[in-house]
Amino acid sequence: GAVIGILGGGQLGRMLSVAASRLGFTTHIYEPGANPPAAQVADRVTTAAYDDADALRAFAETVDVITYEFENIPTEALDLLEPLRPIRPNRKALKVSQDRLVEKAFLTDLGLTTAPFAAVDDMEDLTEALAEIGAPAILKTRRFGYDGKGQARIMAADQAGAALADMAGAPAILEGFVEFSHEVSVIAARGLSGEIACFDPGENLHREGILRQTTVPARLSAAQRNDAVLLAARILNALDYVGVMGVELFVTPAGLVVNEIAPRVHNSGHWTQNGCTVDQFEQHIRAVTGWPLGDGQRHADVVMENLIGDDMERVPELAKTPDTALHLYGKAEVKPGRKMGHVNRVIRPTR
Ligand code: ATP
Ligand code: MG
Ligand code: MG
Repeated sequence: GAVIGILGGGQLGRMLSVAASRLGFTTHIYEPGANPPAAQVADRVTTAAYDDADALRAFAETVDVITYEFENIPTEALDLLEPLRPIRPNRKALKVSQDRLVEKAFLTDLGLTTAPFAAVDDMEDLTEALAEIGAPAILKTRRFGYDGKGQARIMAADQAGAALADMAGAPAILEGFVEFSHEVSVIAARGLSGEIACFDPGENLHREGILRQTTVPARLSAAQRNDAVLLAARILNALDYVGVMGVELFVTPAGLVVNEIAPRVHNSGHWTQNGCTVDQFEQHIRAVTGWPLGDGQRHADVVMENLIGDDMERVPELAKTPDTALHLYGKAEVKPGRKMGHVNRVIRPTR
């Protein structure tokens, strides 16, 4: 079978490796950090920095296709890899999703609704943006934010200075606060020949900026479900996308608002491991290797819960609980806020 190169050795890279291995592929992980979760299950690991041109070249030579488990891959590394092997999803998907301002401009150009937004590089920009968008609003760094990091809420104009200071000089974006009733996400896949398959949307619960729980089915009307899937398809087609993407949405009385997109398998799609015949990880491997997309129909209701930090203490109890599938990432050290694993509680239609 083909060799799949994966940039990034976290839990997503680990679960991609397992899925690849199940289809008879081998994986080669590229990761700067020591002892990454994916190293325990991958066939081969390169431990090197993203500015190590020799290591990147050697890595590319051993693989047939390159994919990734995170979107913040340095441009220089991509420039070096792109002529050597196909990168799937493509560079455009990375360019759009690496920068919240570029991302929002792309989405609104497609005719989709996002929060009102404005670029903020200094206090003058912020004052102007706040006058236009109003409070409450959220100031976010344009790049490198995840799990709610690099964000500051502005409830009233007098908090603007403190919020800007939180950005530590990084280019930022001001977003108007979206009054949503709940959050959902669509995990969508597009194959090499352009076919699209979406998993049933999940409903997401965040605490302190971190995803805690995803429930399927989400609370959505048939019309909203349709809208969610169609807008995801529009995004994938516009990017000529190959692979799995997570599309985060706010549900509002005025319709669906796109929060952000992630050009990779997504935490809110982990429920598919126990709710579908073909899960998001296999779907991604199928797409990037040019296989037909698999059957991602949902066959059960599922509640996915992340195991974060000390939640690991619940594992012995969870291991004894019926209808409960544990997925642990093999991380040696427990840290507050660190995603250690997740659990899928399967609610069977009949017992
Ligand atoms: P992720 O870990 O999903 O990549 P992130 O750090 O990129 O997170 P966002 O998804 O932008 O952060 O925001 C995290 C959460 O904060 C959202 O899921 C939502 O609950 C809330 N939030 C973000 N932007 C807005 C907004 N404009 N209006 C209302 N709530 C928001
Ligand atoms: Mg994000
Ligand atoms: Mg998010």
